[in-house]
Amino acid sequence: LTSKGHLLEVRNMVMQFGGLKALNEVQLEIAKGTVHGLIGPNGSGKSTMMNVLTGIYKPTEGEIEFNGKLISGSTPSDIASEGIARTFQNVQLFGEMTAIENVLVGLHHTYRSNLLGIIFNTKHYRAEEHAARLRAASLLKFVGLADLANEEARNLPYGKQRMLEIARALGLNPSLLLLDEPAAGLTAPDIKELIVMIEKIKEHGITIILIEHHMDVVMSISDTVSVLDFGTKIAEGKPAEVQTDEKVIEAYLGG
Ligand code: ADP
Ligand code: MG
Repeated sequence: LTSKGHLLEVRNMVMQFGGLKALNEVQLEIAKGTVHGLIGPNGSGKSTMMNVLTGIYKPTEGEIEFNGKLISGSTPSDIASEGIARTFQNVQLFGEMTAIENVLVGLHHTYRSNLLGIIFNTKHYRAEEHAARLRAASLLKFVGLADLANEEARNLPYGKQRMLEIARALGLNPSLLLLDEPAAGLTAPDIKELIVMIEKIKEHGITIILIEHHMDVVMSISDTVSVLDFGTKIAEGKPAEVQTDEKVIEAYLGG
């Protein structure tokens, strides 16, 4: 944890694109084991925050401390190895690969065979490959995709593709999972399934940052909610507090 006892601390985060401050001195503290909602009108900086947290963007200013380590400026793969996994606002799967292969791609971090092992197909390599397949299968089962393991990702219904992305992210064995609008484009029954899934992930001790447009989803499962507007954090608190906050209401009506 950080010196203040949080899993994650974002301090004075500034992310500038040309003349635009997509994030403007944002502070964020995420308590271990919680679901932390991140909301705000379109263009308020939510996805930018995800991209900074996962090392895709290098912050213009500010620091990110995760598990007691400074990770701002680290590469995406180093940050992933530290235990931060994510899904994307737009589904990013390998469409022509099967569901299980998509999960296996995410597992190469944990089962890192050396090149010689792959070339010579050593016993050790085959054992690792077997372990990875078992783990991928159990991840698919966890998200309710056991029966669809050998379907090409592009042939899965959209809601299942979203679940597959979550399975792949969980393959990293993250302590922090970032979900960028996981309910976008889902049907009402899919959304119900997603909510159950997020609660199940939380029960496994994984901390979650949830960006979500569907207010009922965020408000029902978040322990704390932070609100961004034009790159600035304008409110934070329990869902009930945030929902009735005048600045928040104004930001949404104005946007
Ligand atoms: P949100 O996810 O809250 O809808 P974003 O974080 O995607 O918002 O975007 C915040 C602002 O930053 C927007 O004005 C967007 O156009 C801008 N932005 C995001 N990424 C980039 C980029 N790579 N280059 C330039 N501007 C960007
Ligand atoms: Mg976004």
